[in-house]
Amino acid sequence: MKYQPIIGLEVHLQPKTKSKMFCGCSAKYFGKEPNTHTCPVCLGLPGALPVPNRAAIEKCIKLALALNCTILSESKFDRKNYFYPDLPKGYQISQYDQPISESGWLEADVNGDAKRFRITRVHIEEDTGKSIHKDDKTLLDFNKSGVPLIEIVTEPDFISKEEVDAFAKRLRQIVRYCEISDADMEKGQMRFELNISLSESGQLPEYKVEVKNIGSISVLQKVIDFEIKRQAKALDAGEKLEQETRGLKGMSGETLAQRIKEGSADYRYFPEPDIPPMRFEKKLVEKIQKEIPELPQEKKWRYVNDQKIEIDSAETIVASKDLFTFFEQGVQELKDEKLAQNFANWLIGDLRRLTKKHEVDLLDSKVTPKHLVELVQLLKEGKLRTAIAKEVLTKVFETGKSPSEVMQESDLGVMEDDGELEEIVQKVIDSNPKSVDDYKNKNENAIKFLLGQVMKETRGQADPIIVKQLLEKLLTS
Ligand code: ZN
Ligand code: MN
Repeated sequence: MKYQPIIGLEVHLQPKTKSKMFCGCSAKYFGKEPNTHTCPVCLGLPGALPVPNRAAIEKCIKLALALNCTILSESKFDRKNYFYPDLPKGYQISQYDQPISESGWLEADVNGDAKRFRITRVHIEEDTGKSIHKDDKTLLDFNKSGVPLIEIVTEPDFISKEEVDAFAKRLRQIVRYCEISDADMEKGQMRFELNISLSESGQLPEYKVEVKNIGSISVLQKVIDFEIKRQAKALDAGEKLEQETRGLKGMSGETLAQRIKEGSADYRYFPEPDIPPMRFEKKLVEKIQKEIPELPQEKKWRYVNDQKIEIDSAETIVASKDLFTFFEQGVQELKDEKLAQNFANWLIGDLRRLTKKHEVDLLDSKVTPKHLVELVQLLKEGKLRTAIAKEVLTKVFETGKSPSEVMQESDLGVMEDDGELEEIVQKVIDSNPKSVDDYKNKNENAIKFLLGQVMKETRGQADPIIVKQLLEKLLTS
């Protein structure tokens, strides 16, 4: 490609808290009757005083630590001044030069290689209200006004949409692992802003296009495609691209010019006079650090290196808490560590299909990790055939009985009586004279066909190797 995209991200996350950032109103605004979650503070009435939400700040510190940031010993709130109908105070309380944290990184895998993306800062602020455009009127709902937001700002370290995708997904997993937010994008709990420009020389270009309010990772991908094409076309035509803010036109990824981008001077930031600066004790930071669980990137590579799990399977498992919880419980029960991959295959294949089909949460399903371990071990010991195992798993799923119980009750074990098997083989030979002729004329497909017939007769319970030996013995005798 002639041009190299240079991309940076800003992510807004709504931490899971009971109340809003600076008042006691409930933060669970989604889907509620408009203007029922409001008070003088979040309506910006004169004289109302903000009181910071400790839980939101601690969640911000937790995410910052999970993203390897340095927590500033002293942090403060600032007013970011701008006018917007859904911002009744005329400013947003945010953080300017002393955010909660700065200088971190997040590692994610892109095409199999780990890459570190630098995080500039993680800070806390408040959300605005919501404008609802109806016919020729604009209605305002202040339920969202003052809801806490954690903002994550990255360096312009991304050079492709694949990198952005890997980062966004890993970030969402970290947020969920640390129980900071459900990061449910359909509820607006995680939103993206994109800075994108094209470089010809590898140097930072002089312009930067910002696209705001992107509510899904797939739309984010489409916006990147669209902007790369649009900007390349303009540059090819000798146009000078401007510093500007663009908005989305629907979900197609297409963007529209909104305004020439403001610099930070336009916001006239100044310290929030109603909230004193914050100091974080070392003890508090250490306590929060200890609450951070093993994160997805470490977990994935531990599965690959220690459990010898394939990279793709490991990536799938770490993406969901249900999957990795089930997987880790199962692996503990395995007698043979080499079966971990088999266990993983059954988990992310057939078991996950069953739970999805019947809309059951994996951890609530009647199939326990122990059941799946037993299934994998029965297969390994040759006591169960793969073709039958699916049926057994379905019955375990329906009844909660163990695989061996199911096999006993439904007679689904491997056929061990050679006499009975020999009878079936003879019967198949007798009723397929044409295939027997073909076999004698050295047609290789004939034995495959006969083998298939025997497996069908035995409902897959016979050992195909033994069947083949029997067929050869009986056909040549
Ligand atoms: Zn309020
Ligand atoms: Mn922001």
